[in-house]
Amino acid sequence: MGTGRECSEKEWQKECSEKERSGIEAGVHNSETYEDALRQIARGLPLKAHDIERVLSPQTVEEEFSLFHAAHEARECHVGKAIHVRGIIEFSNYCRQDCLYCGLRRSNEALARYRMSPDQIVKAASTALKSHSFGTFVLQSGEDPGYSADAIVEVVRAIKRLGPAVTLSVGQRPFEDYELWREAGADRFLLKFETSDSILFRKLKPTTTLDERLQCLINLRSLGYQIGTGIILGLPGQTREMVIRDLEFMKELDPEMVSIGPFVPHPDTPLRAPASCTQPNPAGSIRAVLRTVALSRLMVPMAHVPATTALGVIGKGSREWVSLWRAYARARFGYYGPLPAPCEYIKPGHGESRFLPCTSSEEAGVGEGMHAGEQADTGEQTDTGTWEWAETGSRGTGFSRLGPVRHWNDPRGMALMCGANVIMPDVTPKIFRDSYEIYPGKASSDGEDLQAALNGVKAMIKGLGMSIASGRGDSPKPRFQIKENLPQKKGCLT
Ligand code: SAM
Repeated sequence: MGTGRECSEKEWQKECSEKERSGIEAGVHNSETYEDALRQIARGLPLKAHDIERVLSPQTVEEEFSLFHAAHEARECHVGKAIHVRGIIEFSNYCRQDCLYCGLRRSNEALARYRMSPDQIVKAASTALKSHSFGTFVLQSGEDPGYSADAIVEVVRAIKRLGPAVTLSVGQRPFEDYELWREAGADRFLLKFETSDSILFRKLKPTTTLDERLQCLINLRSLGYQIGTGIILGLPGQTREMVIRDLEFMKELDPEMVSIGPFVPHPDTPLRAPASCTQPNPAGSIRAVLRTVALSRLMVPMAHVPATTALGVIGKGSREWVSLWRAYARARFGYYGPLPAPCEYIKPGHGESRFLPCTSSEEAGVGEGMHAGEQADTGEQTDTGTWEWAETGSRGTGFSRLGPVRHWNDPRGMALMCGANVIMPDVTPKIFRDSYEIYPGKASSDGEDLQAALNGVKAMIKGLGMSIASGRGDSPKPRFQIKENLPQKKGCLT
């Protein structure tokens, strides 16, 4: 797997301003303890930016794991133990927007465009239901003016007749369209604001504005949709301060779903990585995403939080990642399967914690999806120390039955262990799937065959000692509990 080491620092900086990539660089540390800041956030108390910054910047692996674990417990407490498996149908890759980061951007002439007919979309849903009783279908597309509002109405009505809830994710449309779709039965709408910094937004999304996008969210909420929103983490030009403001904004908005995915450079966009560099420091990016996912769980506790496909894509085959995941499982949840040899805990000068890769093939996860010879990105190390794997974690959590997990190399599993509770296998018919290339590696990220992909996702969830939720998976907020009465838990805050 390509890493940042293959890419000259100069090259990448030129394109993406690496130093400003949030989540990878460490932030300023304050005097108060990590636990204090974590507790402040988990209790829902008023927050200062430096509390958020402190929690985003753990200085030891124990701090980092305490964040993950606090998020895991908050997840179980606020949205339940079971994982929601939602089928996503990506029904059109036409887009009128020209976002600099996205492979669907209208200026990308290299992309073969497709548009599924309403019948094809409904058929995709009914076919998927033969493989799994999905409680929700997410219908996503580029911002495609090729569908009239009535065409989407037709699709929503037909899928609702099949039983599941419908989440739309079709971008910015007039209030009247949202209204028609809501009346037709659409339950939820996913529209990430991507960044709350209006200047960066304008640079990256030159064909719209942050105000216009936020107005859409306001409209959707006023119409009674369960709204989902979120950010791309690691966007070129995005700073840590911006991410902190994003999180503050999300807390204020209190959406019903929060999605945090890593930026994945697409070669046919202006934000492509230099030719020799697929993704700078994937392991660092994964950990930055996980911390942000965990923190968003604590800050917006009632939200559904997906383990994003983009996270799975950047994490494939990172040996460093495998070590971290196993170590977390053991330290916190008493996993006694094969573990890496005690790895060295590295704290480079810039504050990012790292694990050195383990050396033997068994320890590195060969046979579980890893390829012998793959090297992890170990970064520039300035300070080394050995961290003992202390078995300090609580047992009897959802992980007490953690069995031999064959998915160590998929960080979506780790996301499910630190706050996320939703996973969205792609159920788009294969002939179209390959062309929904928002970023490279996405199309085949879960494999070619729907049943095999579903089996993989289910095995991962089971391997984590978790169960799959039945039902639609509405927000646990009381006003959305008309159809499903989930128990409202009390006393979640520590
Ligand atoms: N048109 C709809 C909209 O605007 O919300 C949905 C489709 S859009 C392609 C879905 C999401 O893909 C975006 O919200 C964005 O976060 C994500 N995305 C696009 N390009 C990406 C990239 N290069 N890396 C990571 N995420 C990306």
